[in-house]
Amino acid sequence: MENWLKTGDGKKIKLLFDGKVTIVSPENTSNIIPLFCPCCNLPMKDNSDSISYRKIKVCNKCDERWTNKPNVKWPDGPDKKSDEWNAYIDNRKLVERTAINFR
Ligand SMILES: [Zn+2]
Repeated sequence: MENWLKTGDGKKIKLLFDGKVTIVSPENTSNIIPLFCPCCNLPMKDNSDSISYRKIKVCNKCDERWTNKPNVKWPDGPDKKSDEWNAYIDNRKLVERTAINFR
């Protein structure tokens, strides 16, 4: 990444506005779990989501529901225009109305 300086301890820094603002970021961001699933765009909530994300880059619910379907391949995932997908998302949104757990 351009303009980033490695600090040597696993972090990188970027100076903005002639050094008045410093951004510090981890060098390796590949193991960071996003807040929202890239497939269903619903919040990633717990450790099972982290495990599924590390495996196939989606949340646990998407993994359980779609991974073993014969016509579904990651990272494309299921057909987002299908009735089956719409029913899945509608059901997920009903169930997901609980607080996010940041453990
Ligand atoms: Zn998902």
